[in-house]
Amino acid sequence: MPQVCIDARGLTQVFDDGHRRNVVLDHVDLRLDFGEMVAVVGPSGSGKSTLLNILGLLSPPSEGTCILDGVDVTAMDPGDRARTRLEKIGFVFQSFHLIDHKTALANVELPLKYLGLGKQECKDAAHRMLDELGMGHRSDARPSVLSGGEKQRVAIARALVSRPKVLLCDEPTGSLDSRRSTEVLEILREQTGCHQTTVIVTHDPWVAEQCDRVLTLADGRLVETRATDVVMVDGRGTEAGVGTGIEAGVDGDEAATGAATETISVSGPNATSTSPTRTPVPARELNGRKREKWFRTSLVEAADAVSCRLRRNILTTLGVVLGVATLILTSGLSTTIAGQISDAFDVFRAQRVVLTQTNRDALTADQAVELAAGPGFAALDRLNGVTAKAVVRPVTSGVETVTTVPEQRQQFDGRVQGPLLSATPGIFEAQRQRIEEGRGFDEGHMARRDRVAVIGRALLNSLGVTWTPGLTLYVGTVPITVMGVASENPSLSDKHGAVYLPLGVGLEGHDGGPTSVVLATTPGAASQVGREAPTALMPDKPGAFAASVPPEPESLRRVVDQQQRYLLLGVSGVTLLLGAIGIMNTFLVAVLERRKEVGVRLALGARPLGIVTQFSAEAVLTSAMGTGLGIALALDALATISLVNHWQPVLRMDTVLCGAIAGLAVGLLAGSYPAWRAGRTDPVETLMHA
Ligand code: ADP
Ligand code: MG
Repeated sequence: MPQVCIDARGLTQVFDDGHRRNVVLDHVDLRLDFGEMVAVVGPSGSGKSTLLNILGLLSPPSEGTCILDGVDVTAMDPGDRARTRLEKIGFVFQSFHLIDHKTALANVELPLKYLGLGKQECKDAAHRMLDELGMGHRSDARPSVLSGGEKQRVAIARALVSRPKVLLCDEPTGSLDSRRSTEVLEILREQTGCHQTTVIVTHDPWVAEQCDRVLTLADGRLVETRATDVVMVDGRGTEAGVGTGIEAGVDGDEAATGAATETISVSGPNATSTSPTRTPVPARELNGRKREKWFRTSLVEAADAVSCRLRRNILTTLGVVLGVATLILTSGLSTTIAGQISDAFDVFRAQRVVLTQTNRDALTADQAVELAAGPGFAALDRLNGVTAKAVVRPVTSGVETVTTVPEQRQQFDGRVQGPLLSATPGIFEAQRQRIEEGRGFDEGHMARRDRVAVIGRALLNSLGVTWTPGLTLYVGTVPITVMGVASENPSLSDKHGAVYLPLGVGLEGHDGGPTSVVLATTPGAASQVGREAPTALMPDKPGAFAASVPPEPESLRRVVDQQQRYLLLGVSGVTLLLGAIGIMNTFLVAVLERRKEVGVRLALGARPLGIVTQFSAEAVLTSAMGTGLGIALALDALATISLVNHWQPVLRMDTVLCGAIAGLAVGLLAGSYPAWRAGRTDPVETLMHA
C-alpha cells in the first residue's frame, strides 16, 4: 500500500469572470500521507473550498496534476471522476447536506447503493457505521428531527461508510457549539486511523490545533505553518515542515521515501489507539470488484423520491389523470354510443329497399294505382326476404302547409308544414311505423279516392292538437279527415310529420312527384332484394326503377366513429398538453428546490447521467400514477354512464393502451428537460456557496 495518499503539484485555479482574472490557487504543491489529519486554514475567500473541490474531484484545476492513491486523476473523464469519488473520497460539509426525505440510515446507505452493494449489505454496513459514531439509536430519524451535532455525525457516517481514502471536511464544526465540535473532532481523529487521510478546512484555531499538520492558504500560496507536537517528537521536525510541505516539490523522491518511513511512526500511535474500534471494512474491499449499479440505483432512488412526495405528485399529475381519462372515456363513449346508433340504424335502415323511378316523367296518380294493382307489384312478394311492400307517391312536389282550420292567414299557431304523400295501405308496415291511434286506411278508401289520412305523430305534436275521431285538418281549403296517427321511425327523418293519404288521391292544381316502391326485408336480405326487385316489378322495363340499398352497417358505424373520435381526441390532446405543462413546471421547480440534494448525490459519486435518469424516472413514475388513476376514472365513468343509460359499454383494448402510452409519453417528454437541467447541476456551486 502506498504511503502517499495525495500528491498534487502545481495546482492552479484561475476564475476568469470576463473582466478580471482571479488567481485563487497559484502553483500549489501538496503531499498528504495516509493516517494524517490535516487542517487547512486561511482567511475567507483565500481558496480553501476551491482546493478541497479540486482534491475531491468536484472541479478540475486550471493547471497542475494530482495523484490520488497512486492513480493520476488529472485527466480523468467525468465518469471515472464520479467513480473515483464514489470509491475513494468522502465529503463532510458545514451545513450537513443530508437528504431530507430520507432517514438517517437511508442517508448513510446511499453511497453504498451507488456502489452497487446488495440491500442487506447496505443496511448492515450503514447500521454499523451509525453505531460506531454513537448514532445507532437514531437511525430511523429524519434529518428534520436531529440536532446539529447529530446531523453532522450522520453526515460523517455517510462520508465514511464506503471507507474512503480521503475524507474532505469543509468547516465541519462551523455550525456546532464547542462541545459538539469536540465530539466531532474526536470522531474524525478516531476514524482517520491509518488507512485514511482527513483534510479539515477550518477557521477555528482550536480545530487546527487538534490536527497533525496545519496548512495556511494566503494569496494563492499554501504554507505549512505548524507541525504538531507528535510530528516533532517523532523527529519529523523541520524537514517535515519543508519536505511534506509545500514549495519543496523538487526533491519529491527523496521526500517521499523519507515520509514513507516517518508516516508509519506518525500514524503509529493513532493506529494503535483506534484500531480496536474500527470495524472490518467491507465496502473498501468490495470497491473495484463490485460493479457500480448507477442505473438501477437511480431508478430505485426515483421511486423512493416519488413515494416521499406522494400527495404533491398526485396533484402534479392531475392534468395527466384528466387527459388520460378524457382520452379513454371519450373514445370509449363514442364506441359505446356509436354502438347504440348503429344498432338503431341496423334495425331500420339495413332492412329497407326503396325503388325509385329513373324516368323523369313521373307516373300520374292513376298510373301509380295501376302499378300497385299490377302483377309486377304482386310479384315482389315472391322475392326472398321481402316482408312488406308499398307504393308511395308524393301528392305535391314540395311540403305543404297543414292547418287546423280553413285559414289563409300566414300568422297563426295552428299551421305547420309537412310532406303530403299518397300510398298503398301497406306503407306503415313497410316503413315500420305503428298506427298508434285510430286506424289506417284500406283498399276501400283507395278505391273511393277518400280524402282521409293517417298523419305522423310529429306533425300532430307540432300542431298542438290531440287526435279525436273525426279530426279534420286542412291543406289550403281542402279538408282531410284524420283516421289515425302513426309513430315516427327515427331512421326516416325526412318523413317525420308526413301526411299519408290513400294512393290515387290527388290535390287540385298539383301534379305530384315520382312514384317509388318501399320494401321491408328480413335482416341481411336487402342487397339481394335490391338487385332483383327492379326486374320483378317491371319485367319488360327493368331500368324504369332503380333500387337504393342501405349502407352496410359496419361502414356506417365507422363514419360515425371517425368524426366523433377526431373531435374527442382533440379535446384529450389539449388536456394532456396541459398535463405535460403541469408536470414540466412542477419538476423544474423541484429541480431548483432539490439542487442541494442533487449536489450531494454528485459529491457522493453519482454520475450526472444517473441524476438525469433519476429525474426522468421520477417524471415517468409520476405520470404513470396519473395514467393509472386516469384509466380507473375512465372505466368507472364509462360503466356508470352506460348503466344509467342502459347501454352496452364498449371499450376497446387499444383505446386503453393508447391512453396508457400517451400518459407515459407525456411524463417522459415533460420530465426530460427538467432532468437534463438537474444533470447539469454544479455540485460545487450548490454545496459550497450555499
Ligand atoms: P474560502 O473557502 O477560502 O472562503 P473559496 O475557495 O470559496 O474561498 O473562494 C475563493 C475565491 O474564489 C473567492 O474569491 C471566490 O469568489 C472565488 N470563486 C470560488 N468559486 C468560484 C467560481 N466557481 N467562479 C468564480 N469565482 C469563484
Ligand atoms: Mg469555503
